[in-house]
Amino acid sequence: MNNGIHKLLIVGGGSAGWMAAALLSRMLPKLSISLVESPLVGTIGVGEASIPPLTHFNQLLGISEAEFIAATQGSYKLGIEFENWGAEGERYMHAFGSIGKSLGATDFHQLWLRQQATGDSTDFWRYSLNYQAAKANRFSPNAQLQGSPLAPLVHAYHFDAGLYAQMLRRYSENKGVTRIEGHITQVMQQDGRIASVVLDSGQTLSADFFIDCTGLAALLIGKTLATEFEDWGHFLPCDRAIAVPTQRTEPLQPYTRSIAHEAGWQWRIPLQHRTGNGMVYCSEYWSEDEATARLLANLDAPILAEPRLIKFRTGRRQQQWQQNCLALGLASGFLEPLESTSIHLIHSGLVRFIRLFPTDMDGGACREEYNRQSRAEFEQIRDFIILHYHLNRSRHGHSSAFWQHCATMEIPAHLKHKLDLFAQGGQVFRHQDELFSEAAWQQVFLGQGLLPAHYHPMADTPAAADLSQYLKDMGKVVDATVAAMPSHTDFLRSLAR
Ligand code: FAD
Repeated sequence: MNNGIHKLLIVGGGSAGWMAAALLSRMLPKLSISLVESPLVGTIGVGEASIPPLTHFNQLLGISEAEFIAATQGSYKLGIEFENWGAEGERYMHAFGSIGKSLGATDFHQLWLRQQATGDSTDFWRYSLNYQAAKANRFSPNAQLQGSPLAPLVHAYHFDAGLYAQMLRRYSENKGVTRIEGHITQVMQQDGRIASVVLDSGQTLSADFFIDCTGLAALLIGKTLATEFEDWGHFLPCDRAIAVPTQRTEPLQPYTRSIAHEAGWQWRIPLQHRTGNGMVYCSEYWSEDEATARLLANLDAPILAEPRLIKFRTGRRQQQWQQNCLALGLASGFLEPLESTSIHLIHSGLVRFIRLFPTDMDGGACREEYNRQSRAEFEQIRDFIILHYHLNRSRHGHSSAFWQHCATMEIPAHLKHKLDLFAQGGQVFRHQDELFSEAAWQQVFLGQGLLPAHYHPMADTPAAADLSQYLKDMGKVVDATVAAMPSHTDFLRSLAR
């Protein structure tokens, strides 16, 4: 017998609110779910790039890829290209999926390091199917040659998050979720728990459990329950963004671009109906006018709307589940968008909540476990993002005050250990359920210029000639697989038919 939650109120109708409504109504059909959103407070209106697990979220909902791409004006994303992050003029990609293929028990990147030590300067990404397809503007989810040792492409999407929220609203309402429009003016508590919210119309909405999806307002978790915000500005100093959409350009690139500038970085995200652009920057080093001017000077197509300023704080709520309230999305914390992880954190928070769904009203042990896992997840992603900033070009010579600050700032001990381990022998380990794979870490280390002092002795196992041949053959398989793929635009057209 379940003495726990029967009536649930989602507060907020941005990406977080409607993702919660959709997944909870799909997975917990007996729950009575309502969602309230304010006509007075808009959604954040940015968030166009994702990482591969979003494909699983849609699968859980039973939404097909063709349906999703059509409804959200989406495109495919095979990775993020980082320009000027390592040294000025250099670029590398965090391409999704694995790179190359290990030989026996030896990691592929160790074989590549050994080959480099012989004087072969072939790029690491020569062996990344994702990278090579991305740069050739090609895409096919199934492209695979007979007998190829390589895994197929791993993809995420670029998409219009506003259109996605509308799609999920239709989905949720079809599954019985009640939508209420109203601005919350008061939150009522009883014994420390949230009892109800009061709308400006005077209507009171009560529930057993509340999901705070009110964005940066954090109306329940922050303003009402006073859950402390752990500020990570000392690790990730950017605190502002300017966003501006431009007209679509050709060809439609299947990857995000991230371009480092003096006091921040610029994003470029190609969708079918527009390109999303923005500048994330640190207000200590750049004014709004400077950041806007730099962004506008670097656009490659006419703008479709005026540039918009967004202020944010990087960090997280100390407890993301407090009393009878779970915070999701921006209300729960924010890691800046460098690795497109925020929408994923909504997804993973929801899956975690469903797995830990309490069977009594207190939910004590479930809450504790949720908060423990969420902390670990946020910290692991935070460290991966810090790595990009810390291992920057100012290590290679002259750079701006902002980048020098990032290169010399204190970093978390766990990240320092990861850096030391890779610097010595190229070892990198995925901890527990860490989101980013070894290949992701390797690409940022190597892409930003950290070449290990030694390779692992196991990489000496194959004979030198055999290893050279193995790598040459692999390069040929990559080329042939990419050549067999349709262009990204043609593939999108075929989906629409
Ligand atoms: P919001 O969209 O702000 O929604 C808040 C909701 O709460 C609204 O419906 C509002 O009406 C409601 N509300 C607020 N107050 C009240 C009230 N008093 N009464 C009733 N309702 C109320 N994520 C990615 O995954 N990829 C990206 O590329 C990416 N880029 C980003 C770039 C920037 C610059 C920023 C700042 C964020 C980015 N994000 C990205 C994050 C992403 O935009 C958010 O995580 C996501 O949109 C979730 O927002 P939300 O639903 O939590 O909040």
